[in-house]
Amino acid sequence: MEDKIKKAAELIKDSNYIVAFTGAGISTESGIPDFRSPGGLWERYDPSIYAEISSFLSHPEKYWKMHRELSQMVLNAEPNPAHVALADLEHKYGKLKTVITQNVDFLHSRAGNTNVLEIHGSGQTARCLKCNKEFHYTQIQQMLEEEQYVPRCPHPCYGLIKTNTILFGEQLPWDVLDQAREEILAADLLIIIGSSLLVYPAAALPSLAQQSGTRLIIINMEPTMMDSYANVVLHSKAGKILPKVFEAFESLINDS
Ligand SMILES: [Zn+2]
Repeated sequence: MEDKIKKAAELIKDSNYIVAFTGAGISTESGIPDFRSPGGLWERYDPSIYAEISSFLSHPEKYWKMHRELSQMVLNAEPNPAHVALADLEHKYGKLKTVITQNVDFLHSRAGNTNVLEIHGSGQTARCLKCNKEFHYTQIQQMLEEEQYVPRCPHPCYGLIKTNTILFGEQLPWDVLDQAREEILAADLLIIIGSSLLVYPAAALPSLAQQSGTRLIIINMEPTMMDSYANVVLHSKAGKILPKVFEAFESLINDS
């Protein structure tokens, strides 16, 4: 493991345009369990009933019931050392240019990363489906606290409000996906953290990186089908291993 940490640190030292791609695994140490894991959100709330766009339109109260639990979890969560290491890599060294994330918990922005591409949409904002007016999540929280079980746009619109997270049955935001693709093509190092790389578009990233000659580090608890594409693979918790890689990188810099 020490050798792999050192190799990852060297890759970071030799790179000037790093892009990170993160999935649920980076947020579990912040107290947000992977929705798909045992005990995760989808075990208690069948996504075909609670998180699917057509059921949202016919029974929005079900979505909002699940959302209450999710938003409490997100608001109680704090960025963990893995989020902080990525923020330092941007602000202290200017090496990290973009974070692409599957997560809707906005922990990367809260840790301080500035260019965050949220490919599954954002939990920070919501919009009226009728007039397109945008709302901040704090406004939505307030509506929920005032016991509006289904938040609606104020008088005279009364349209249904939906968070800007992507529900099942909705298309992923193509403009954001395009930007993500461009960033990966521009990168000299891609660090994939906490994603099992099973579903599109995450599954396509390692080969995209390989095609463009972008070097690849994979950090995930479990082996992934894509491990053989990577220059370094670290099977560990992100919050434990990323700060070690960062430390090793800093000592390389200080030695030279
Ligand atoms: Zn409206």
